[in-house]
Amino acid sequence: MKRRLLLAAGTATLASFSKCSHAQTSAPAPTSPDPGPAGSALGNFAPPRALAPLRAKVDRIIDINVCRRPFRAQGPRIESERRYGKTIVHHYGHGGAGWSLSWGSAQLALPLIRAGGARQIAVIGCGAIGLTTARVAQMNGMKVRIYCKERPPEVASSMATGMWSPDSRICSSEHATPAWTQAWEAMARSSFKTYQSLLGLADQPVEWRDGYLLSDIPFDQPLPDSAHGGDEEPDYPDLIAQLDDIRPKSVLLKPGVHPFRVAHAKRFTQMSFNISSYQRLLMDDFLRAGGEIVHEVFEHPRQFSNLRERTIVNCTGYGARALLGDNSIIPVRGQTARLVPQIEVDYALIYRGHNLFMLPRRDGVLVQAQGEHDFGNEDMRIDRALSVAAVERLASLFA
Ligand SMILES: Cc1cc2nc3c(=O)[nH]c(=O)nc-3n(C[C@H](O)[C@H](O)[C@H](O)COP(=O)(O)OP(=O)(O)OC[C@H]3O[C@@H](n4cnc5c(N)ncnc54)[C@H](O)[C@@H]3O)c2cc1C
Repeated sequence: MKRRLLLAAGTATLASFSKCSHAQTSAPAPTSPDPGPAGSALGNFAPPRALAPLRAKVDRIIDINVCRRPFRAQGPRIESERRYGKTIVHHYGHGGAGWSLSWGSAQLALPLIRAGGARQIAVIGCGAIGLTTARVAQMNGMKVRIYCKERPPEVASSMATGMWSPDSRICSSEHATPAWTQAWEAMARSSFKTYQSLLGLADQPVEWRDGYLLSDIPFDQPLPDSAHGGDEEPDYPDLIAQLDDIRPKSVLLKPGVHPFRVAHAKRFTQMSFNISSYQRLLMDDFLRAGGEIVHEVFEHPRQFSNLRERTIVNCTGYGARALLGDNSIIPVRGQTARLVPQIEVDYALIYRGHNLFMLPRRDGVLVQAQGEHDFGNEDMRIDRALSVAAVERLASLFA
């Protein structure tokens, strides 16, 4: 499904709301999400609860960030090679699903790491993929040293939205072979399982949230052409339906049982990550288990030969494009703004066809707005007007 169709379709994932699970209009939901599998009947939402009003005001913006999703049409690169006298395991290119798939992806990389035969390994990169790969290696008896240019909160992973979005820009349709899809499902299920073990902890690294998918027109009607985005994106496979058994169903709401100024609404329930506390937890766990973090910038992979470890796991994300000259990595720009935290706001919002979604996190209310030409766009400059417009659209949803 093309990005423009996704935008039009509207039941977007909170993580990259250009990914929408279509209404009944076009092909099935490509990249995540979610309002979950088609839900129960109208009115199955009793009793309605009062929702805390969101203070969606431009003067409450406390931060705006831009980062790039490392998209590969063929999906993440998880393979090893012998070079410079080392075993190098490449583990990068997780598109808009890096946080979601990280634990399961690390499990896929583990046999390749083990095959190197070393008890002490190096991981290059300290983002979502590097940290979880390092933790999985530690939990399997290895000693790990992370080498990186940036560490949280400077890494790109720190700028992500923080939604469970395992199918978000993870590969293009043409590469989603049955074998690939099976591997993706294994990754997603394994990650999901790990995340359930991180619920209920201090600082709430992982939470389940309700959200509301809002629409001006009925969900079974396509949006007008004007709601469509750009044409640059490839087709994405419909993967998320394979996880229906672990996705709460969405519920269509009767008019009047929600406070939003739109004609149509659905409630969904989805897992989310409080990225700042979650990555702090990962770092703490890593260091407590004897891990070490070393600041090191690699200009060329031949510098790997200087490392004392014989097995090196390359988790450099978008950085692998320059480091390895790997042009299969395509940047997909994403910009998010944060509003002053409102702890009482405990619901997410997606406004179908209006290129908007909001996720309440402990470190602020995250407002994501997609630009028209984010695919292939490596521009890291902040476009404040984009975030201002998104906050104003958000405000328009409340009476
Ligand atoms: C706006 C936006 C929202 C997103 N939302 C979500 C979401 O809600 N859920 C989700 O699952 N995913 C989301 N993603 C996707 C997710 O953020 C990425 O897939 C993930 O961050 C990739 O992690 P990484 O560890 O591979 O890369 P990075 O976080 O970029 O980490 C790379 C590491 O490698 C280091 N490095 C790179 N090059 C070198 C070098 N030459 N020498 C030394 N060190 C180097 C860096 O310093 C860093 O430590 C989102 C992405 C964007 C842009």
